[in-house]
Amino acid sequence: MEKARRFVLASRPVGEPKEADLRLEDFAVPEPRAGEVLLRTLYLSLDPYMRGRMSAAKSYAAPVAIGAVMEGGTVSEVVVSNHAAFAQGDIVLGRTGWQTHAVSDGASLRKVDPTLAPISTAVGVLGMPGMTAYAGLLDVGKPKAGETLVVAAASGAVGSVVGQIAKIKGLRAVGIAGGADKCRYVKDVLGFDECLDHRAPDLPARLAAACPDGIDIYFENVAGAVLDAVLPLLNSFARIPICGTIAHYNDTAPPPGPDKLPAVWRMILTKRLRVQGLLVTDFAALHGDFLRDMGQWVREGRVKYREDIVDGFEKAPRALIGLLRGENFGKLLVRVAERSE
Ligand code: NDP
Repeated sequence: MEKARRFVLASRPVGEPKEADLRLEDFAVPEPRAGEVLLRTLYLSLDPYMRGRMSAAKSYAAPVAIGAVMEGGTVSEVVVSNHAAFAQGDIVLGRTGWQTHAVSDGASLRKVDPTLAPISTAVGVLGMPGMTAYAGLLDVGKPKAGETLVVAAASGAVGSVVGQIAKIKGLRAVGIAGGADKCRYVKDVLGFDECLDHRAPDLPARLAAACPDGIDIYFENVAGAVLDAVLPLLNSFARIPICGTIAHYNDTAPPPGPDKLPAVWRMILTKRLRVQGLLVTDFAALHGDFLRDMGQWVREGRVKYREDIVDGFEKAPRALIGLLRGENFGKLLVRVAERSE
């Protein structure tokens, strides 16, 4: 008989997560009741926010409880349907978490059309990360042709799309990424104007040279040393959509050194900066526009995407640790199972 498996949160990480913070458990494949479907997970999306859910620190979403299944976005196949709106074999996007099987009443599922694009893109360029880039840049960043945009984690799920939309809108796009291979890809394949390796020395000077007219939009994915290099280059009236601060997700204490907050606060005043945090979930009203525009850009090859697919459910914890170290190259996914024929 087929067995189901799941990862539950075993302990809250201190600093970088350890594989043992997540525990693999077997469980019986659940039985769907009337009005429910049984789902088999095909892809599990791994995303930086998962580090936050492992922590008990107060945030915009409740933490995963100790012993509970880790949260996560999934692309699944309907195996059994007792629900009028779903048929066996349907592909659905859901948030069924780190488990091979799940039962759902369908309320939070969205059907994925496998004829439009590879189904994995439903958690990537045509899903949450793509939507984050789209809403964060267009609605919060308010790009104007001729301006200069800087984004780090530029080869990743969000950053790669931010820079490519900026190019579509006529901006100069400067990416920052970890390592020569990622930078080559960002420039040569994605078409950014420049990409700088944040691990090489002298990022502030190289960034200044890459942004001769200053920076009008800094799409914040990372913070840390990248933010330090960006701040002196910001133009008056620059916009900073704050999407993520991944350089700090494993921090256990405030960074050493002087408190920079008063100087940054004053810079926001004197340069009249617009700094706005964004959560993708705030932009549901833009979802239709996103699917229309991004679907078209991807079909036309104007937005390219790269997936980093890890084969094997049991490898998910190690892959999440790698994501926080910059080991992924593109949107990170776990292939949990193949689609049935
Ligand atoms: P990515 O696919 O970009 O993967 C994460 C990347 O972050 C790594 O590959 C690495 O790239 C980079 N990184 C990690 N640590 C550092 C560091 N210390 N300094 C510089 N770069 C680092 O992830 P996503 O595209 O999914 O996410 C990007 C950001 O967007 C994250 O901060 C995430 O939390 C945020 N986000 C926010 C959402 C929201 O609603 N606000 C929704 C989705 C994502 P490299 O090797 O190039 O440095």
